[in-house]
Amino acid sequence: MPRRRRLRKIVAPPGFKGYKPYGITHVSKEPVELLYEEYEAIKLADYDLLNHEEAANLMGISRPTFARIYESARRKIAKALVETREIKTVYGNAIMDKSWFVCNDCNSRFTIPKTMDKKQCALCASSNIELINKQ
Ligand SMILES: [Zn+2]
Repeated sequence: MPRRRRLRKIVAPPGFKGYKPYGITHVSKEPVELLYEEYEAIKLADYDLLNHEEAANLMGISRPTFARIYESARRKIAKALVETREIKTVYGNAIMDKSWFVCNDCNSRFTIPKTMDKKQCALCASSNIELINKQ
């Protein structure tokens, strides 16, 4: 049997595009790019308080792979805090069960049921929306 590509399943994309430090005069440094799967790893381990085994199972990856993603996420967040950098969330290698969209007008993130043929923002009804992930 051919080796299956390791999916990094996540339930939902982060509900934000990024974070900015405040109280500093200007941000000129490159932002830290936090991958969706890194965000998910932090959420599962430090917010949902799952152990690495459970979190790895949910994401459909091995425990060592989860540990690597989690470690990378923590280092990036620490770097952003210590070096006063912005955090930008980027797509990475995440797989989501549903198609997720982002609204370019109000920045909300949402899914659209397959039965709905009108593609518009669930919050402000704008049609200026973008698909976040491919199925
Ligand atoms: Zn909107």
